[in-house]
Amino acid sequence: MADTLYDTDLIIIGGGPAGCAAARMAASVGMRSILIEPDRLCRNLYRIPALNNVLGGYTSGPELADSIVAELKSTELCRLELGRHVTALHADDDQVTAMVDASTRLTAPYAIVATGVGPLQPCDTTWITAPDGLILPPLWQAEADDAEGRTLLVLGGDRPIGTFLRANPTTDTRLLVAYPAADEYKIEEIREDPRVTLFPVEHLMLNCGEGASVSAEAVGQDGAQQTTTADAAYLSIGNAPTAPPGDLTRGADGYCPPTDQRSRIIVAGDLRSARFQRIMTALGSGSEAALRAYYAARELPAKG
Ligand SMILES: Cc1cc2nc3c(=O)[nH]c(=O)nc-3n(C[C@H](O)[C@H](O)[C@H](O)COP(=O)(O)OP(=O)(O)OC[C@H]3O[C@@H](n4cnc5c(N)ncnc54)[C@H](O)[C@@H]3O)c2cc1C
Repeated sequence: MADTLYDTDLIIIGGGPAGCAAARMAASVGMRSILIEPDRLCRNLYRIPALNNVLGGYTSGPELADSIVAELKSTELCRLELGRHVTALHADDDQVTAMVDASTRLTAPYAIVATGVGPLQPCDTTWITAPDGLILPPLWQAEADDAEGRTLLVLGGDRPIGTFLRANPTTDTRLLVAYPAADEYKIEEIREDPRVTLFPVEHLMLNCGEGASVSAEAVGQDGAQQTTTADAAYLSIGNAPTAPPGDLTRGADGYCPPTDQRSRIIVAGDLRSARFQRIMTALGSGSEAALRAYYAARELPAKG
């Protein structure tokens, strides 16, 4: 189907459930695609210990991820570009152009952007002061070995803390959870876990300690000041959309509503909105995005 003027029929940016579903659907209707992913395919799914909202009998994220990865690797019409990321995306009347690692230029009639969300950082909050440029990992990326026998300072009370504790039920760790008043309702599910020490704060100043350790000076919600130390710091303060720079239209919240985009750019998965961030919705929207490109390429109405 690809016109020789283009590198492929469809550029797919992001190899999560939405991007992978788009590639499978595109192949099923004869479209060639190039899928670009800086990490491994379905990296998020490998961190989800238990699933109860996905059809098909999958009960864990890794089980589903292994199945998707095997299918993608056997999809001949999809060229995987792993370990690379899109640094800019532009669209004009005739084509989309994606820059890969700021050096390789790819063109296609359509692009699907399915880059999902990434963790907010301390600099994105008003209640944490941290050294300039500090980037911390989210807690859900921590392995059991990162936590075993250690004290972790967790910034924020977002729900992945409960996921982490359930995923590591026998890990001997201590989580010092520093959270602002706005997160009070989120910490209910972890309140009774003996490995958790709750630390309601008004403000927290984070310092890099000796070696890999951290220390923090906190002002509690009762106004009392306290210094605390930990072996490492992790984030649980929520997510922000991670769209590549270029011709994507962002809303005030940073998300990229599909209906606001240029006609050759189709947004799928978590990047669409802070709502509907689930595996099944990502799979569905990625599949639908590929069919939109298919029908648009044939100048057929996108219905029926
Ligand atoms: C801890 C945790 C637990 C969860 N539990 C559940 C659950 O039980 N049930 C459920 O339904 N959902 C769950 N989710 C949500 C689910 O994982 C997401 O809704 C789903 O992964 C979204 O898929 P996506 O393809 O839109 O985005 P993602 O899975 O985030 O994939 C986006 C991909 O884009 C890549 N990317 C980013 N920037 C670029 C770039 N510039 N160029 C190229 N690639 C790029 C990223 O590396 C990433 O692999 C959970 C999420 C987390 C974090």
